[in-house]
Amino acid sequence: MDFNDTPQEATFRAEAKAWLASNAPSHVVPSGVMLDDAEEVSRGKAWQRALYDGGYAGITLPTALGGRGGSIIEAVVFAEEEARYNLPKGPYIAIGLGMAIAVIARHGTDQQRARFVEPTLRGDLTWCQLFSEPAAGSDLAALRTKAVAYDGDWVVNGQKVWSSWAHRSDWGILVARTDPKLPKHKGLTFFVVDMKSPGIDIRPIRQISGASDFNETFLTDVRIPDANRVGAPGEGWACCMTVLMGERLGSGSEKSTVGPLIDYALATPGHAGGTALESGGIRLALAQALAEEQGSRYFEARLRTMVSRGENPGALAGMVKLAYASRLQKTSGLAMELRGLDAIAPAPQDAATREVQHDYIWSTVMRIAGGADEVLKNQIAERVLGMPGDVRMDKDVPFDQLR
Ligand SMILES: Cc1cc2nc3c(=O)[nH]c(=O)nc-3n(C[C@H](O)[C@H](O)[C@H](O)COP(=O)(O)OP(=O)(O)OC[C@H]3O[C@@H](n4cnc5c(N)ncnc54)[C@H](O)[C@@H]3O)c2cc1C
Repeated sequence: MDFNDTPQEATFRAEAKAWLASNAPSHVVPSGVMLDDAEEVSRGKAWQRALYDGGYAGITLPTALGGRGGSIIEAVVFAEEEARYNLPKGPYIAIGLGMAIAVIARHGTDQQRARFVEPTLRGDLTWCQLFSEPAAGSDLAALRTKAVAYDGDWVVNGQKVWSSWAHRSDWGILVARTDPKLPKHKGLTFFVVDMKSPGIDIRPIRQISGASDFNETFLTDVRIPDANRVGAPGEGWACCMTVLMGERLGSGSEKSTVGPLIDYALATPGHAGGTALESGGIRLALAQALAEEQGSRYFEARLRTMVSRGENPGALAGMVKLAYASRLQKTSGLAMELRGLDAIAPAPQDAATREVQHDYIWSTVMRIAGGADEVLKNQIAERVLGMPGDVRMDKDVPFDQLR
């Protein structure tokens, strides 16, 4: 990948910039404003609809599926320009675009593509991810929610947890065990489930902040038509890998978090006179953060190029997520340090500092969500560096014989 725009990319960037300048401002959520859930989802759907109407939803998807039929570079260019605005793009939209569409496009049937892809691009459908369970997080293949074939349907029983925004989602992507006689990775099957189905009970998890972004989702005799099975029975793990690859590759951000910190340091008086940017310690910390941000950006670009060539980055995708999570925590901490004591107890009217504090607290979750740091390091050690594998006694044992 060449990091400078080709003339064609420069033309696309100029078009995207102009389109965003006329369409994005009315959808921007002002800094520090916390919307209630219903309002947030309605704004997220409206922005997604605007993207679709403007021809910028699903940039790399074929036009036959409702996408733009563009290149991966165009998708990156558009995302970079879009990231200049604070737009409502919560998990209820991102899970649909990055996970549900990815898995349906790759493993689904033509009918499923026709039914779900374009409505999701248009912002008509919101999605949640029903993967994690109380005893299956890092070890996702240990999941126990079961689906049994019955009379043309599947009957699902079990419990999921940490289901982000399930309470505001129309559909869920679900993985369940359909053959407990097979080893744990092999007896899984993937479904899409209508979240209004009888037997689905969504219970919010209250966070320390008072918000409830996550839920426990209980499934009791939930009927899923076989037409909503994605991939063959037993192909659930391959579908999960498609989802997790997308989640990890997509976890980097086109938005520079260091650029605004440099601007802030430049505009803030330093303790020894001059600006905060003139302090050696601050300059060093910002320079390191900027170098890491640029390095990650180029690494992400390399992996996206691999994907666009049809190659599979495998465990390298975990490196994107691993680097992003630790950088996010570091730069959020730096933002707190730059604001000093104000960041610990921001004045109620100081929305910008409240946002810095919120981002700092939130930054820790990325070290767990979508694959914990330790687990990704194990995968990188084994599959990228070729180091000896973790001991896995349960890998080839039928699931129903595991203790
Ligand atoms: C913000 C956020 C949003 C989320 N949204 C969703 C969602 O929408 N849908 C969904 O299904 N899930 C969601 N999750 C759940 C997420 O996928 C899990 O939290 C994650 O996979 C870790 O699982 P766990 O919480 O069960 O921790 P555990 O797997 O119990 O891990 C606990 C600790 O043990 C360590 N550990 C575990 N195994 C190993 C090992 N083999 N070697 C070394 N260390 C190990 C981990 O690194 C971690 O530090 C979300 C989580 C967060 C934080």
